[in-house]
This record gives sequence, structure tokens and C-alpha cells, in this order.
Amino acid sequence: MAHQSPLTSPLDSTAIIQLADMLDEGLLLTDSAGVVLSANQAARRLFHGEIIGAPIFDLIDDSGFDDLFRKAALEQVELEMPYHPKDETIHREFKLRLKRLGDGPVALLFLDMTRQKNLEIVRRDFVANVSHELRSPLTSLAGFVETLLGGEVPDEAMRTRFLTIMDEEAKRMSRLIDDLLSLSRVEVDEHILPDDQVKLLDVMLMVRDSLTGRASQRGMAINISDQRADQTRNPVMLGSFDEMTEVFVNMVENAIKYGYENTDIEISMFEVSSNRMQIDVTNHGEGIEQRHLPRLTERFYRVDKARSRQIGGTGLGLAIVKHIVNRHRGSLSVTSKLNDTTTFSVIVPLIHP
Ligand code: ADP
Repeated sequence: MAHQSPLTSPLDSTAIIQLADMLDEGLLLTDSAGVVLSANQAARRLFHGEIIGAPIFDLIDDSGFDDLFRKAALEQVELEMPYHPKDETIHREFKLRLKRLGDGPVALLFLDMTRQKNLEIVRRDFVANVSHELRSPLTSLAGFVETLLGGEVPDEAMRTRFLTIMDEEAKRMSRLIDDLLSLSRVEVDEHILPDDQVKLLDVMLMVRDSLTGRASQRGMAINISDQRADQTRNPVMLGSFDEMTEVFVNMVENAIKYGYENTDIEISMFEVSSNRMQIDVTNHGEGIEQRHLPRLTERFYRVDKARSRQIGGTGLGLAIVKHIVNRHRGSLSVTSKLNDTTTFSVIVPLIHP
């Protein structure tokens, strides 16, 4: 007896509806007068509810839509227009594509362009920021070079002062480039968890020892306070030793830069549960107003731009920290009291090798 293979049978309408429901893009069909005949789940989500039987012109009242729809219904050509859903709290942007299917219904496909548009904006802002950040030390350098070459600085002391500023500007550019490279490296690999066994106490000792010299220039000491119940074992996590060191170097460097002179910086470690560890870096200083806290990890976000620049900041440190912590499946938070303490906290998962 002949029997039809299910793999070669044409799709029936139930299968087509199931297929359409698998799409992230909203898809709906209307008759040639614009009455909605069917809609996939994404389209129903887009219009918040049941839309079968509704006139499409009630759902989409963008100017130009009526004409475009009628043209698509009459001429059977594929047409496109941008579509921005109204009364949405989050701005979303779609590409709406219309085409009449033969003599049958008109298909409307909603392609969500929001993410792509947002990425474009982020990228454009980023390029603008980087160019600006690089241009300012470069302009200053070029100015000093010109003055020196012009022979207008006969005074030796003045020449030394100029050269010192030039040296600082060149170092600033170099730091910025290092940070940019670091940031792009961790961003690309953010979804991959490095899998070396990292001993957290060793990271903290490394951070303290490498920054003690800088801290003492401001009369500061870096203390490690181990508050774990069982201090016999060195807590271990999966990750990259170098990256975890970079996280705490950045945080302690900030504590040195933004803390008051002659105050101490404390790195404290304690367990939040048997397999999670919290490490806090606390300093005493002016503190950070609440409204800035959620934005500190944005690239180039600085509470006081001029001040950060003057003390050698690039505005990228916490963005790098955030990415590395994410990559290690950890979390980052900050609390601050004005004219008192500021604490950056990192929680990371532990393993028990
Ligand atoms: P920067 O290179 O400017 O220090 P970061 O990304 O490391 O950049 O930090 C972003 C901003 O967060 C800083 O410009 C500063 O305003 C604020 N900040 C960071 N750490 C502290 C801190 N410990 N105390 C006060 N403000 C801080």
C-alpha cells in the first residue's frame, strides 16, 4: 500500500502556524481590506493581546501606513517602512515589511531593529569618546612640541616643566590604549569562563604587595582582613589569576586615588555561603552620590571628569572590572556614604577542589 512519507508531505496550515510561532519576528496576515486574519505569538505580544478580526489601521496609525498597505494589497509588490510602537515605555524600533501573497492575504512582517540600533548608538558614542579622549592629550603634546621647536623657551626650568607635562600626557595616552585593549579583550571573551584554579588569597596578597608603594605615597596602608570562619584553606575559584588580579588592582587603585590621604584601605574577605565568597574593598573619602552609582561601570563615566583626568584616570577601569566579574559568573556592587566610606564588593563562586 502506498503511503506518504511525513518528510515529503507539504506543510498543512497547522504546521505553518506552529512554524510561525517559532519566529521571534511578529508575523500577521490580513485580508485585502486590512482585517487581521491570523497572527503568530510574537505579533500578539507586540500588540498586547488578541488582534484577530481587528482592522490593521487601528493597530498601526503611523502616517503613511494606510497608503503603503493599499499599495501592497493592490500591486503585489514587497514594501517596507520603519515602525515605532506608540505608548511603550521602552523605545522600540521595527522594520515593517508588507507583501500580498498571490491573490490571497497580505502578510506583515515586523523585524525588530532595536538591538541593532542601540548597538549602533553605543558604537558611535564609543568611537566619539575614544577619539575625544585621545585627541586631548595629543593636542596638548603637539602644542608643547611646537613651542619647544620654535625655540621660545630659553628657560631651562620652564623647559623641564613642559617636558614633564608632555611625559604625563604621553603616559595618559598609553594607559588609555592599554585599557581599551583590555576592555575589548574581556568583552570578546565574556561568554567564556577561564578554567584555571585561582587561589583568592594569593590574588589579594599580590594586589596589596604591588600597590603598597603607591598607597604609601598618599600616607595610606592596604590591610587584608580575612573574616572567613575557616581560615586554614585558601579559597579557590575557577578563572584567570591575571584577570582577577586586574579586578582588584583597579578597585584598590581607585581607593588610593579617591580616598582621603592618611586613611587606610581595607580588603576584606568573607563567605556568603559555602560556595560563594565576597571580597570588599573599602576606602575613606568624599564618597559617591547615589545617583551616580548605577552608572559607574559605563565606559568613560566619571563623577568628576576633570579630577579623574588630573589624577590619571581613563574612565575605563570599572567597565573592565564589570566585564571580568561577569565573565567569572560573579557580581559587582557598590555602596557609598558621602564623606565617609565607599565599598566596592565582588561576589564570586568558589570551587572545592
Ligand atoms: P577612572 O579611571 O576615572 O578612575 P573608573 O572606571 O575606575 O575610572 O571609575 C569611574 C568613576 O567612579 C571615577 O571617575 C570616580 O568618579 C568613581 N569612583 C571609582 N572608585 C571610587 C572610589 N573608591 N571613591 C570615589 N569615587 C570612585
